[in-house]
Amino acid sequence: MRNSRIWRIEGILTTVTPLHIGDGDITKHDKLKDIEITSVVKDIDDRAYIPGTSLKGNIRSWLKRESCVPCNVLEELFGSEDSQKEDALGGKAEFWNAYALPEQSISSNSPYWEQKRLTDVMVSVSIDRSKRTAIKEKLFHYEFVPPGVKFLLTIIIPYAGEDEVIPLIYALEHGFSDDDPIIIGASSSNDWGKLNWKLNCISKIDPEDVRKWICDNSADKACEFIPLQNDEIKALLNKANELKINSSSKIEKINIKLKFKGPFLVNDPSQVEKNETDKTENKGPDHIPRRNYENKVVLPASSFRGAFRSQAERIIRTLGGYACDPSDPCNPKEKLCLACQIFGATGQKSLISFTDFVQCNEEENIRQEFVAIDRFTGGGAKSFKFSADAIVDPELEGTMAISEKLKCWEIGLLALTLRDLQDGDITFGFGSSKGYGKCEAETNFFVKENEERINKCVKEFREFVQKKGEGNV
Ligand SMILES: [Zn+2]
Repeated sequence: MRNSRIWRIEGILTTVTPLHIGDGDITKHDKLKDIEITSVVKDIDDRAYIPGTSLKGNIRSWLKRESCVPCNVLEELFGSEDSQKEDALGGKAEFWNAYALPEQSISSNSPYWEQKRLTDVMVSVSIDRSKRTAIKEKLFHYEFVPPGVKFLLTIIIPYAGEDEVIPLIYALEHGFSDDDPIIIGASSSNDWGKLNWKLNCISKIDPEDVRKWICDNSADKACEFIPLQNDEIKALLNKANELKINSSSKIEKINIKLKFKGPFLVNDPSQVEKNETDKTENKGPDHIPRRNYENKVVLPASSFRGAFRSQAERIIRTLGGYACDPSDPCNPKEKLCLACQIFGATGQKSLISFTDFVQCNEEENIRQEFVAIDRFTGGGAKSFKFSADAIVDPELEGTMAISEKLKCWEIGLLALTLRDLQDGDITFGFGSSKGYGKCEAETNFFVKENEERINKCVKEFREFVQKKGEGNV
């Protein structure tokens, strides 16, 4: 017989990277007059929260990817996968909305940080992939929850046995810290939406607890959850760990170290914008390096991805293959070009993800003054003077994670692109024409054990492109 009880799992989710769960609306910010900002979901107190449905859906798909939990258990716990189906079932597990803990003190030097809402604003530029310059008119403003914000999550699982609760505990304990983690919200391929989970307590109501409650005749008081003893929780965690051992890792991680030779700068557009509104004489430089929440210099995952992808596109075109133009991207409902198949298209998840690249050597700065040449007259335009704070010879570390679903030819293209990266053929950030952003790279991809596989994949890629090139799709 099944040990059927009502379970309650409680814990804290903390944002590790920026989180954006859109509510389909726009908002405004006092310091960004007239600018429309894509907003995040907020509760009645105007504080950001994480909808239970978001967590439920993403935890479910992570468990499915792990494929260590029987389908019928998943279905019973989370409901039918296709909720539109006629015989669709709702799942047992009730995920409550995860509201932010009260009184959180978050330190931030962002000009747009709002303590009350627990949000910040990210200004993102759209990069023209073919010219690799920022498209000036295309600034996007996103509201997001920065790293370090804590939310309380409660999950109730009524009338369930241990066998149903253990997969859920497994997902909570391992899914958020996994190599291919549970990601919440938008922009998942750019390292957003990562959370950290800490179990607070597991409690239960057994049938005999209910009986006792009825006998005690305390109808004015709800039947209370009873916290499990430490050794009971430990036993559950051990059983959850056994699931981990049985599931295989499906992600390959490639560590990349970028070694810049000379100045490097990725603009922090929010700082630049602040400066543009500053009319005083001794304002700061016009270009300021982008930093992460630990105040370290970063090359954002999205910038790395953009430059890496455009190099891959160049390789495809050089070999006679087709890669769509960013101004005329592939339609995800039709056949995708080679680049979109690997790097993703609108509405389609990428098979490759990147982390931000973070500086790992000691920081050294210089300030440089520039005179922008007016492109139409060719003369030095007088109001076009600007200055930049650059980082000298930085070394930045990051990771590229590739899905096991990548085909051999796709790995071949990645290998060729990584080789160009190692050789210094890809520049990053501001001012490549001014000698900025030149770098060589070190990776753990081209090791001896990998050599045979890489050669095979590169060969397959060349053949694949040539074949496709003739049909030109
Ligand atoms: Zn495409």
